[in-house]
Amino acid sequence: MSCLFCRIIAGEIPATKVFEDDELIAFNDINPQAPMHVLIVPRQHVATLNDLESGHDSLVGSMIRRAAAIASERGFADSGYRTVFNCNAAAGQTVFHVHLHVLGGRTLTWPPG
Ligand code: AMP
Ligand code: ZN
Repeated sequence: MSCLFCRIIAGEIPATKVFEDDELIAFNDINPQAPMHVLIVPRQHVATLNDLESGHDSLVGSMIRRAAAIASERGFADSGYRTVFNCNAAAGQTVFHVHLHVLGGRTLTWPPG
C-alpha cells in the first residue's frame, strides 16, 4: 500500500488522531500551519476532488460537518477558522488521498499564496 493516508488509516504509520468513526479519521497535521491544523480524511481512498462522485456526497458532507464540530470544540466557531481542499499540483496537493484541512487559532490572511 503506497498511499500515506491509507497507511495511517491502517495503523502502519502513527498519527495523533483527534476523531474517528466508521467513515472518517481526523488527525493533527505533522507540519502545522496554524495552532489548530487538523486533517479530516475519509477511510475510503479517493485521490482528488476530481474523483468524487455523487455517491460520495454524504461522505463529503460528513467531512465538512466534522470540521465545524472540531473547530467548535476548540472554541473557534465564532472567532473563525478555515477549511481547505487542495486539488492537484497547482494548489499544492502533495498527498493524493482526499483530505480537508481545518486551520484556526491565528488570523488567516486572504488571498492565500
Ligand atoms: P496537501 O498538501 O493538501 O496534500 O496536504 C498534505 C498534508 O499532509 C500536509 O499539510 C502535510 O504536512 C501533511 N502530512 C504529511 N505527512 C503527514 C503525516 N505523516 N502525518 C500527518 N500529516 C502529514
Ligand atoms: Zn489512500
